[in-house]
Amino acid sequence: MEYFFNYLKKSRKQFNEQEKKLFQTIANKNVAIVGPSPWLNGKSLGKEIDSHDIIVRINLGIELGMNYKEDFGSRTDVLFINQKIRRDFKGNIPKEWYDKCGLKYLFILYQNLEKNVYKMYKQKLLGKDIECPVCKKSIKQTDYIDVIDAKTPDNQIVQTLVHSKCYYGNVYTNLPIPAIAITVNEFDDALSVSSNNMTFLLGLRAILHMFKYKPKKLSIYGFDFYDAVKTKQDRLNYNDIYFTGYKVLEGSFDDSTKDQTDELGHKDKSGKQLDFFKKIYEINQKRNILGVELVVDKNLYNIIHNIREEQKQESFDLTSIKLDLTNIKI
Ligand SMILES: [Zn+2]
Repeated sequence: MEYFFNYLKKSRKQFNEQEKKLFQTIANKNVAIVGPSPWLNGKSLGKEIDSHDIIVRINLGIELGMNYKEDFGSRTDVLFINQKIRRDFKGNIPKEWYDKCGLKYLFILYQNLEKNVYKMYKQKLLGKDIECPVCKKSIKQTDYIDVIDAKTPDNQIVQTLVHSKCYYGNVYTNLPIPAIAITVNEFDDALSVSSNNMTFLLGLRAILHMFKYKPKKLSIYGFDFYDAVKTKQDRLNYNDIYFTGYKVLEGSFDDSTKDQTDELGHKDKSGKQLDFFKKIYEINQKRNILGVELVVDKNLYNIIHNIREEQKQESFDLTSIKLDLTNIKI
């Protein structure tokens, strides 16, 4: 853990020009990261969320700000998007995200090749370089890549690698807002977690990245690490629970014994992500290593402290009383 904190501190000294600008925007400010937990429904925390200097969201979370202002707040200043969103929008993002929602910074998750994957592809090609099907130049391990389906001459579908830039053009470099590239492998190196078969979900990555920019206070809303998914039926209805664009990953909760991966290759077996966040939270509560005050909403507080359902019940009752009062007013 110590190594990880040092890594984050060190990364503050290695910012590129865009990151430096973002640092000036975020340092010493109050920042809210807002996830899609259904716990936020009906809590009317929108105004509280909007009172933060900077609001960070993940993937289609930007649409929660457009459609559910009352509970989720309205603005999105910083957005993290994954490869699926990048693919779904064919390498672009909707204009209204920066025109109407006030989006100022975009973080884009890229993939580069892990050493063993690179080696494997090279072996398949009998040691030849891996060629990009678009620009025909060789793909280096450090290049940003996408995995795409391609047809062989006999109409078989095979997976092949392509430079992200070649596949999508230079859309992101033409955006009117700065786009910051982050890589899937970044934190794996710092933590040597690859051996544990864990890569971070984008939400947790966003939290870790925000630490780098040293906000005064980092408040986390609507993150429950899939706590709202209790049964297999819930998993099938994840869109109803977490809104479209948030995917519940196979194996990310306890009733699944299978170790399955989703289409992006994430693995999150039984709460590993939550365990990691817990560690950071607990260490940060004891001694403020990174100079960031970390605050979580009531739901995540209960999840972290393993507060039992009966005790939770009390807070639910309080909420219903509040709701009743609102009804009387109307
Ligand atoms: Zn290329």
